[in-house]
Amino acid sequence: MATKPPKIISVANQKGGVGKTTTTINLGASLAAKGMKVAIIDLDPQGNASTGLGVDHSDRQKTTYDLLLNETPLSEILRETAVPGLLISPANSDLSSADIELVSTARRIFLINDALAGPDVDALGLDYILIDCPPSLNLLTLNAMVASDSVLVPLQAEFFALEGLSQLMLSIREIRETANKRLRMEGVVLTMYDRRNNLCHQVELDVRENLRELVFKTMIPRNVRLSEAPSYGLPVINYDPSSLGAVAYKSLATEILKRHRLQDGA
Ligand code: ADP
Ligand code: MG
Repeated sequence: MATKPPKIISVANQKGGVGKTTTTINLGASLAAKGMKVAIIDLDPQGNASTGLGVDHSDRQKTTYDLLLNETPLSEILRETAVPGLLISPANSDLSSADIELVSTARRIFLINDALAGPDVDALGLDYILIDCPPSLNLLTLNAMVASDSVLVPLQAEFFALEGLSQLMLSIREIRETANKRLRMEGVVLTMYDRRNNLCHQVELDVRENLRELVFKTMIPRNVRLSEAPSYGLPVINYDPSSLGAVAYKSLATEILKRHRLQDGA
């Protein structure tokens, strides 16, 4: 059980299909498997993280929408998953209108920050909160970054990988200078990496040369088990623990925990 406030990490990239949800689910499960108590906040109206963790569409009475706009406490929204220590605040299409409803709200970029700041959340004893952002730099994503300690960026190893990243970095800098001084880059993780593909390797070299120590050593391989697991409502480490995808996400969790222990001086 955590004695410090949870570390809040936004998993963000305004491009769709780069592995945000896959990373959120499987990093969350891997951290939980290492004894951490983890909550995932599904912030995408598509609700893929919720489905991928086995929460049926018909079974989402209280959702992330209520956390943002109805002042429902996180403890009332969080659901258990098949993984001990891994909880989820589910999302559904209600969230697609939230982006517009937020515009007329006074603290429109602070709603997640405010929702996660109360004693209700401290009492949950969470070590990590991972926020699965929608594929856009909209008000929902801004809310996530304003509430976060760091941003983790999944980057698909393809030709245009770096395109769009400068816009994301700019948004992070702006938020740091205005609404959230503590925000930093957690790092960039290359996803859907194919060792046999020379272009992937070139992209890796290019990304590492540009972003240097921001890029995690761990790369997530293209692995069919990762794409199959969500249809069983399970993270890959439960669906197929020995798959390359499972091994990679466990390694990413180890890398992140090691960095955080160093930062915390533990
Ligand atoms: P995002 O949340 O950024 O839109 P997803 O995590 O949903 O991206 O991934 C997009 C699609 O690619 C999904 O069908 C997912 O199952 C698949 N996918 C993601 N990562 C991998 C991977 N490393 N190997 C194979 N398929 C993957
Ligand atoms: Mg997604």
